Amino acid sequence: MSYATYICGTLRCLRCGHVAEECVQTKLIRADVNSAGREYRQGNSVVIDGLGDYLGISQLIHNPMLNVVIGDWDCSSCGLNYQWAKVCFQLTEITHRSDFMPATILSVESFAADQIADYVGVDYIQDLLAEFARYPALNRVNALPELRLQMPQTTIEQVANGYRHWINDIIPSSITDMA
Ligand SMILES: [Zn+2]
Repeated sequence: MSYATYICGTLRCLRCGHVAEECVQTKLIRADVNSAGREYRQGNSVVIDGLGDYLGISQLIHNPMLNVVIGDWDCSSCGLNYQWAKVCFQLTEITHRSDFMPATILSVESFAADQIADYVGVDYIQDLLAEFARYPALNRVNALPELRLQMPQTTIEQVANGYRHWINDIIPSSITDMA
């Protein structure tokens, strides 16, 4: 059994612009019954508990840095969910184990999932974000567990474009260049 913890940082809502410390529930961090629910922030030491729910998108791991996009989080002001955060970890020990990677959290920041340029330098994205590659063809984003992403056909462009479509659907005023 794996336990959830939280990674917290100052994040900005893409709908209402509210800036606050928001916490992203995650199973990325190794936890037991005693540390379940703990909040981790910039500067904290953690152990990354495997990347099974994440999709590798870079050819090159930025050793000893590992940039992971996690989510989703929802705005504490307007409640908008399906928002993302980029967490930069510095790996502090080489273990040769994918399920036990000691690291320090260097930064936690908002991630603009609709901007292709923002994916540069990212090593892994949460599988739930990757599923936006299917949006809007399949627009029930929260009903996808049976449809695991098949990565070879899916590009970051599709993810970013799908996410941009979703933003335009939920925030009509945000319509921008769809090119
Ligand atoms: Zn908001």
